Amino acid sequence: MDLKSTIREIQDFPKEGINFKDITTLLKDPLALKATIDAISENLKDKGIEIIAGPESRGFIVGVPVACQVGAGFVPVRKPGKLPAKVERYEYELEYGTDVLEIHHDAIKPGQKVAIVDDLLATGGTVLATARLIESLGGIVVSVQFLMELNFLNGREKLQGYEVQSLITYD
Ligand code: IMP
Repeated sequence: MDLKSTIREIQDFPKEGINFKDITTLLKDPLALKATIDAISENLKDKGIEIIAGPESRGFIVGVPVACQVGAGFVPVRKPGKLPAKVERYEYELEYGTDVLEIHHDAIKPGQKVAIVDDLLATGGTVLATARLIESLGGIVVSVQFLMELNFLNGREKLQGYEVQSLITYD
């Protein structure tokens, strides 16, 4: 199935110069939604994945059905102040300023095999922060799966050493 044709592109959102990839048009298409979840789950087959970790918020949408399909649990990685129990936090650099992500301190047991699932790889900062949080709890990041990848931002370079797979790429 041609998944790319189901993704809508919005010029100048959220700010001028950005060509935003809108997955809501994919999500409302039953065949495209199923093909997406099936393809990511297939990429994770036979890797012994115990936990899917998804960054807020589109990582939740894609990550939970994949977790069900591969027989794994799901762990949310969230913006600060959203998780109720004790958290680990990771601060990372943006083009201007910094951002923070958090994970529950007991979300992952040492040695557990984890896959990260998110909608889009841009600069790689979000997923690298997610990987660092998982590793701070002793988890092993076995694979990183995206629906889309923006090749021209070279996020893959930041994720060297990890298996990185994307269903759709943009040049
Ligand atoms: P990165 O940290 O620079 O790789 O940015 C990736 C994060 O930004 C992901 O969690 C995406 O949800 C979000 N993001 C950036 N650009 C887009 C876009 O065009 N469409 C949807 N999400 C985007």
